Amino acid sequence: MRFQTLYSSLRLFAIPLRSRVIPRAATAPPPRPRATILKAAPTIPFLSSFFSSSPRDNMSYPDQRSDDAWRAVLSPEQFRILREKGTERAGTGEYDTHYPTEGVYGCAGCNAPLYKASHKFKSGCGWPAYFDSLPGAVTRHTDSSFGMERTEIVCSNCGGHLGHVFKGEGFPTPTDERHCVNSVSLRFQEDGGEPKAKA
Ligand SMILES: [Zn+2]
Repeated sequence: MRFQTLYSSLRLFAIPLRSRVIPRAATAPPPRPRATILKAAPTIPFLSSFFSSSPRDNMSYPDQRSDDAWRAVLSPEQFRILREKGTERAGTGEYDTHYPTEGVYGCAGCNAPLYKASHKFKSGCGWPAYFDSLPGAVTRHTDSSFGMERTEIVCSNCGGHLGHVFKGEGFPTPTDERHCVNSVSLRFQEDGGEPKAKA
């Protein structure tokens, strides 16, 4: 899908390049191709990412709600963490020391199921920790903020920020990975089924 996006973007991109050849025959001064390219780039989201220095991810998620739509359904703290990649204070989260035997932790934004209760383990880090997620539920990105290289995890359905993944810490789990997730980004459903929509 990404390749297809690139291909169609390149086709769009090629139009101004071709058109600049035509005015050369006319008496008008030759166009400035560089300006044409830069002007065209911001209208093409995929290509504009190459020109951007910000680490913003450009993936598209099935749930494409606007910030205003998210503000209408999330608390200010949920918005800060899920949509602005904030972090809750260590040891303060609702699910930090929550160890049910069954059930599912869903995304607090879009309700997509993310982690099973059986994925959760005691890490002592101050945030809920999971050694794995439901297949495909979580998407990873490189996060270079704060002078560190970390792996950010987001909800694959809405792109909501969950936390980070750390590997090789030596926890006695099947994956030796720790999904360090903000409680604020989660909503627990003890029936284990599809989490219900927020009332
Ligand atoms: Zn979500």
